[in-house]
Amino acid sequence: TTAAPSARSILKSVFGYDAFRGAQADIVSHVASGSDALVLMPTGGGKSLCYQVPALLLDGVTVVVSPLIALMKDQVDALTQLGVRAAYLNSTLSAEAARSVENAFVRGDLKLLYVAPERLVTDRMLTLLDRANVSLFAIDEAHCVSQWGHDFRPEYLQLAVLHERFPNVPRIALTATADEHTRREMIDKLALEDARQFVSSFDRPNIQYRVIEKNNALKQLLAFIQTEHPNDAGIVYCLSRKSVEEVAAFLEASGLKALPYHAGLSQALREKHQEVFQREEGVVMVATVAFGMGIDKPDVRFVAHLDLPKSMEGYYQETGRAGRDGLPSTAWMTYGLADVVAVRKMLAQSAAPEHIRRLEARKLDALLAYAETSGCRRRAILGYFGEEYPSGCGNCDNCLAAPDTWDATVAAQKVLSTVVRTGNRFGAAHVVDVLLGRENPRIRALGHHQLSVYGVGSDLPERTWRGVLRQLVALGHLTTDAFGHGSLIATPSARAILKGEQTLHLRRETEKPPKPQKVKAT
Ligand code: ADP
Ligand code: ZN
Repeated sequence: TTAAPSARSILKSVFGYDAFRGAQADIVSHVASGSDALVLMPTGGGKSLCYQVPALLLDGVTVVVSPLIALMKDQVDALTQLGVRAAYLNSTLSAEAARSVENAFVRGDLKLLYVAPERLVTDRMLTLLDRANVSLFAIDEAHCVSQWGHDFRPEYLQLAVLHERFPNVPRIALTATADEHTRREMIDKLALEDARQFVSSFDRPNIQYRVIEKNNALKQLLAFIQTEHPNDAGIVYCLSRKSVEEVAAFLEASGLKALPYHAGLSQALREKHQEVFQREEGVVMVATVAFGMGIDKPDVRFVAHLDLPKSMEGYYQETGRAGRDGLPSTAWMTYGLADVVAVRKMLAQSAAPEHIRRLEARKLDALLAYAETSGCRRRAILGYFGEEYPSGCGNCDNCLAAPDTWDATVAAQKVLSTVVRTGNRFGAAHVVDVLLGRENPRIRALGHHQLSVYGVGSDLPERTWRGVLRQLVALGHLTTDAFGHGSLIATPSARAILKGEQTLHLRRETEKPPKPQKVKAT
């Protein structure tokens, strides 16, 4: 006869679920037996149960550290509805309400207590922890301890104090950020050297990945939403506040329910827009990356990128906000030559120290390789996170309709020669003008109509040349100057192409992107 309820019976009786998913069962038993764990699981994977079930299995109270103040109330309300004694402590509570939660905590009346990190590390709170019977610390969004990511929270660095002060209380740290660098930093900064790591697959099979060449971003976006996601909730990411405003106004004028979200709006307005997005149906949030962490909306049907994110991590996180409910969703991105030049320029102008700039450049290269690949996009994403994906996924644009590639070696030689012959000093527009042999005063004034490369590209349309240029920049055979003029410069790797030692197969720019059929949920 077993006296204590099992994890399975709690899962069923409290949460109403029949079975654990993926690594949940292993994680729960590991943590409930008193050991530390580091859990890497994609968004929607079911991280919460990994500490909520142990919380109910163990004597005492589980303290959950979460930076998402806006979500604490929702989570506590949900638990309370399930009959679980849970409460939260954060700055939204009155002093009186906070005191009553503190009392309940110390008395042992709670099973879960959610606390904001800045509050947890106060002397007052640490003293309370001494007096209470704490069975487990759960550190949610643990990647916030990493200074590399854009979610860095200085208070997280102080969480190592939990281990020093309460060495016998097990800890479980959880995150949906997968990259190796962040993982090492979490282990290091949170003193999790002895924690067992649980790494789930980061594949999100219900998300369909698509990238199209940009020609008229707004028109393309509208067509995408209207044909594939009318009346669906979605997020559109833009790089600047200004474009957020413009895109939101455009969608609104086109008859969609669209709202802007960026750090330049008042907090009240941001909260209001988030609330509308969360509660109402079919709202499109147009946002900078300021919008993201802590969105708990399961039925976001699409995430669209109008600008290149700065890294694969960012792209994965942002697109990961689609389809948390497991139903078919789309990650859609449009990008073009100007975007590649713009991000390269941003990197070149960055004031960050050299090693950080190199790291950022590597991250960007990975993203560009993803955008330009003719292979499976899912495979490219997972490969970046060190996960092998055996074959084509059947649910990305390239798998659904193999892209056309062509031997662009000669075309690339023409482009690179033009860049070199004009002195590595001009932007894409001018290079294309010279290739096409266009007449204009600037070309005359510079004497570029007398170059041997003048008009050498008149056999192909402008569109093709822009595509070749974009791919050459993406592949690193061309780069931009550090002064922000957008001048294109041939890199050392261009030499092999110019000398005919390397052939180059590039994607052909098609008039219309192949339109993949809608997929069924699996
Ligand atoms: P994460 O925090 O990893 O993004 P959540 O903990 O919010 O994910 O879980 C995502 C969704 O999956 C929630 O709606 C949750 O109730 C559901 N879920 C998690 N685990 C299970 C399970 N074992 N069985 C059924 N549903 C689950
Ligand atoms: Zn694929």
